[in-house]
Amino acid sequence: MTTPILQYNTKTEIEQTALTVQQTFKSGYTRPLKFRRHQLEQLWRLIDDNTDALCDALYMDLRKHKYEATLGELITAKEEINDALVHLEEWARDEQTTPSFINRVGTTCIKRKEPKGAVLVIAPWNYPVYLALTPLVGAIAAGCTAVLKPSEVTPHSAKLLAELVPRYLDNRAFMVVNGGVPETTQLLDHKWDHIFYTGNGTVAKIIMKAAAKNLTSLTLELGGKSPVIIDENANMTVAAKRVVFGKTFNAGQTCVAPDYILLTAKAEEKFISALKQAFLEMYGPDPQASKDYGRIVNTRHFKRLCNLLMENKSGDVVIGGQADENDLFIAPTVIANVERDDKLMKEEIFGPLLPLIRVTDIDDAIEYINSKDEPLVLYIFSTNKKLVNKVLDSTRSGGVLVNDTLMHVSEGTLPFGGTGPSGMGSYHGRSSFDAFTHVRSTMIKGLSPVMESAMALRYAPYTTRNMSIAKMLLETTPQFKRGFLQKYIKWIVVVLLFGVHYARNRRL
Ligand code: NAD
Repeated sequence: MTTPILQYNTKTEIEQTALTVQQTFKSGYTRPLKFRRHQLEQLWRLIDDNTDALCDALYMDLRKHKYEATLGELITAKEEINDALVHLEEWARDEQTTPSFINRVGTTCIKRKEPKGAVLVIAPWNYPVYLALTPLVGAIAAGCTAVLKPSEVTPHSAKLLAELVPRYLDNRAFMVVNGGVPETTQLLDHKWDHIFYTGNGTVAKIIMKAAAKNLTSLTLELGGKSPVIIDENANMTVAAKRVVFGKTFNAGQTCVAPDYILLTAKAEEKFISALKQAFLEMYGPDPQASKDYGRIVNTRHFKRLCNLLMENKSGDVVIGGQADENDLFIAPTVIANVERDDKLMKEEIFGPLLPLIRVTDIDDAIEYINSKDEPLVLYIFSTNKKLVNKVLDSTRSGGVLVNDTLMHVSEGTLPFGGTGPSGMGSYHGRSSFDAFTHVRSTMIKGLSPVMESAMALRYAPYTTRNMSIAKMLLETTPQFKRGFLQKYIKWIVVVLLFGVHYARNRRL
């Protein structure tokens, strides 16, 4: 019997881990900004010092080229850390608000940014380093403690993370648990202050059920079928290159990979010829021989993809179609003229198969998109502003990228996340900080008796006179009805109340 690459944590270890991070959070140890800053710097060093080891693990797990590992996992994670380091004080700062009229005098209103607490981060296999460490950036920046559960499907990366995290991060606050379903289930039995899950929608429902037991807040980063609209008048050469990039990066095993193409019969011919050229330029005539092209993660997913292709009844394979189980290789494959309700259109493809669906016009494309679940991203290739706006105004999706693929993921100024079945909540940049932060509304009032005469209006015994004054103070005249008197009536009433208060005090 061969020894497994990845050692799973025992029940006792998991109990101890959950308890430790929960106690550490309660002690307030992770709250100071100095601590958070140091941990973020350490996380950056973890990636930087171990670039080769991380790239090797990713190669062994997914045959991911060093170029893809560096660009798609390591630099992107380091940039998230850099962004958090630059903005940490700004994001964590209390925000003072201008109180409404009734609280205007003697009151301070503050939005305090407080860490949610001890959090659980559950990561998937397709970007096993980036999708494990990036949520952790948000958790550290927000002042939380965290348990990270990497995916067991990519054991080399999971094993390496379990070795590196305790060497670089404070292991009273940040710990890794490795395991499969039973171990994750045990983790989910604990009461967490937030759960951040990235993966498929079926497991997301299990996570949500577990979170519901304790009313724990959730971020769900899921997937779905992300469509691409190709306008007849788009530059087909550029569009094809960008679609090929999005579909072949990590062999199409990307949550935001273009899932299928919507185009008219007129556009199809030009687009297929541009696709052929783009595949040839990037991977040569035999993509299996290309060192740049990745592999399917395991036999289960290889078989799932082959079955999808075999059980799909309609369409013609116009590019690719080759597969080799021993090498977990599936060629980039384009299937033209696929029928809308065929097998390939039933579930997220999550691999290098690309169906082309014919539409009669843009309205037909929009109708088709709207007949399916809201996707994680919607891609549009067009320079026609009217057409782009029409699509934006009449569809829904987690995000939109016009005239490119994947690049929105690396944009830290934009929140990244899905909507409906493609996810709940978002992260990246400031949104990562916000995902792990509770905004605690804090109102501070003075105790001076000066305001009492105005405030005393709310106390019993209730009188008709007080009711009229309170109404005048509390009820706002809508903007469209406001004249000069309505604008200043509240201030006039306050001055009168002060006057009465002053006169009474002088008499005493
Ligand atoms: P996976 O199989 O690695 O599962 C994800 C995590 O869930 C793992 O840590 C795993 O241990 C855990 N898990 C699996 N079954 C479980 C169960 N029954 N109970 C509790 N935990 C369980 O990854 P996956 O789900 O195959 O990931 C692929 C999916 O994730 C795709 O749908 C993809 O679109 C989506 N995804 C989304 C994003 C995003 O950012 N929105 C990123 C990557 C992947």
